[in-house]
Amino acid sequence: MSKLTHIGNKKLSPETQMMHYGYNPMLSEGAVKCPQFQTSTFVFESAQQGKDLFNYASGRVPLPDDLEPGLIYSRFNNPVLEILEGRIAVWDEAEDCMVTNCGMSALSSTLMALSQPGDVVIYSEPIYGGTDTLLNAILPKMNIQSVGFIAQDGIEGLEAAVAKARDLGTVSVILLETPDNPTNHLIDIAACRKVAETLTNAAGERTKIVVDNTMGGPVFQTPLRHGADVCLYSLTKYIGGHSDLVGGSCSGNKALITQIRGFRNIFGTNMDPQTAWLLLRSLETLKIRMEAESRSAAQVARFLNRHPKVTQVHYAGFLEEGSQQHALYKKQCQGCSSTFSFEIAGGEPEAFQVLDATRICQLAVSLGGTETLIQHPASMTHSSVLAERRAQIGITDSLIRISVGLEDPEDIIADLEQALSLI
Ligand SMILES: *Cc1c(COP(=O)(O)O)cnc(C)c1O
Repeated sequence: MSKLTHIGNKKLSPETQMMHYGYNPMLSEGAVKCPQFQTSTFVFESAQQGKDLFNYASGRVPLPDDLEPGLIYSRFNNPVLEILEGRIAVWDEAEDCMVTNCGMSALSSTLMALSQPGDVVIYSEPIYGGTDTLLNAILPKMNIQSVGFIAQDGIEGLEAAVAKARDLGTVSVILLETPDNPTNHLIDIAACRKVAETLTNAAGERTKIVVDNTMGGPVFQTPLRHGADVCLYSLTKYIGGHSDLVGGSCSGNKALITQIRGFRNIFGTNMDPQTAWLLLRSLETLKIRMEAESRSAAQVARFLNRHPKVTQVHYAGFLEEGSQQHALYKKQCQGCSSTFSFEIAGGEPEAFQVLDATRICQLAVSLGGTETLIQHPASMTHSSVLAERRAQIGITDSLIRISVGLEDPEDIIADLEQALSLI
């Protein structure tokens, strides 16, 4: 494998690494691009090698430092997947990474690997709808409870959740989504890590910080740098970036990712090689896509902010200088996600009028694709959250979420202008 990280003293940037890291053309007939390895299984050189690889894969024998894990079967590994994992780890500044067949399996493998019956997971709100269902309907069946805290309440909110969680059991994980979706509040990862250091789980280990970095990462936020133990993604969103695949990943130190990978391999939620191959292509343009979308989003947000029918724009680029959130943004983020939300004058009927009228912005959930998508969180992505809780976390009936894509921002603005003129 070619794992070039420096030229002389110059450390290569992640965007450079996306073109070569982990791939040696000479092992594939000189092909510049990694070919597809559409195979379910791999031939062993000898029976002894087969035995050794199984011993390493199961953890019965530790993998010697100078050896690669070795290919066995595509539910465990595959060359394309390994290259993809290496490249995501470069972005996340992680020792190791594992990919999964979707973001939800990255979340479920992580939470189950890091928790035992009797543990409690603390999570920030708003949180992705599927994660909410996992925490509140699925994990309780395994006697893993959960306690939420509102992102806007900050560390005091987390501390109150810890006090509540202690009545239920020991805290295995603090799960954060920052910036939150769709209202773009930031949570201080380093401050949450300090709280985690005072806690232990049922097995007596330190409580882990897991960050769902789907909204801003990996270009605009590197959670492991700020004290997270695991950084995970729905690769379906910005990293895949073309709304044509579903995938997930988890990055962290080797010991933790090995533990989580064990769950993935037996639950059977590994990614397929075709999706991994598409993601290698996506990673080559990740930085330019995210930066261009972010620039356009800033322009769209400024337009919305001036519009008389728009009452509020929830966009990290508008944080007030001198405020705590702005200081946190400067410390923790290198840019703004192109997904944000805004409130219009009126309620659900007016929001629906706007959503039904846009012609460039397509009415669909998901985010981070090349095309601009628009949706209504209260009745769509966050409809499973109880109405009372929705009000507390700022998901009102007049709130619209937009994920700005790669169209000319002037066209997106023209489209929103004609749609808003109807209300
Ligand atoms: C989409 C999403 C998920 C779930 O990912 P899938 O790929 O749909 O399984 C999890 N977290 C966030 C923040 C998401 O946006």
